[in-house]
Amino acid sequence: MTDEQLLRYSRHILLDALGIEGQTSILGTHALIIGAGGLGSPAAFYLASAGVGRITLVDDDTVDFTNLQRQILHTQSRVGMAKVESGQQALMAINPEIGIVPLQQRLSGEALDRLVATADIVLDCSDNFATRHAINRACVHHHKPLVSGAAIRFDGQISVFDLRRNDSPCYHCLFPEAEDVEEVRCAVMGVFAPLTGIIGTMQAAEALKLAAGIGKSLNGRLLLLDALTMEWRTVRFKKDSACAVCGPTAVGQLPGYLPQPDADHESVSAACRLTSSVRAN
Ligand SMILES: [Zn+2]
Repeated sequence: MTDEQLLRYSRHILLDALGIEGQTSILGTHALIIGAGGLGSPAAFYLASAGVGRITLVDDDTVDFTNLQRQILHTQSRVGMAKVESGQQALMAINPEIGIVPLQQRLSGEALDRLVATADIVLDCSDNFATRHAINRACVHHHKPLVSGAAIRFDGQISVFDLRRNDSPCYHCLFPEAEDVEEVRCAVMGVFAPLTGIIGTMQAAEALKLAAGIGKSLNGRLLLLDALTMEWRTVRFKKDSACAVCGPTAVGQLPGYLPQPDADHESVSAACRLTSSVRAN
């Protein structure tokens, strides 16, 4: 670590649990952030400021005036710019020593598979179930830890699927794809601005803990927040031994597997899709 790095990250290095060893691990981490909207903004800010060495930021959308209420990576002067380019400018302004790779594309199929394979940690900051399930399948296949967040109206959710571990549940264990779920879209629904900040910041916290190898992650726990009452609820869940994605005969385990392309063409930029039913076992 250089003298400048020792100074920049000194308040991390002072933490007994983290120290130089943890910070060095963070510096060597490649994080993949899918979605540069409400959740991806705070998540990317904290990963960049904390020194995650390489951040790949993926989003196919451009900055819209209506995004500015909550998507804090972006500014009014950058309306119309690609979100990943706007995000890169914001992150480089905070920490020019890290590597930011902006990818303006809708990630699916082979491209998603290749990118997940190269990442150490994946943050799902997308806004729709098709993308969430595709990301999960790729993370199961490549045994990558997945930090998943969602926010809509005043309701937030966050969990971690530490798929480096064989006994870890996956996103599909918790939210089976075939199950009828409530579809809620940012485009038509409201979202409380700081809620995306709370959940996205917690995604950053979980990702940094995983990167440094410290603490206890949210693996096997789903946290649900009602921001109107500011009440948190914890749902504990386990791996579904019959899961179609991570089970012993699941497609996600087969060699030559590829995630399915997304079923729709909605943007992954905004951070707002929740399910009405949570199956806990
Ligand atoms: Zn599963």
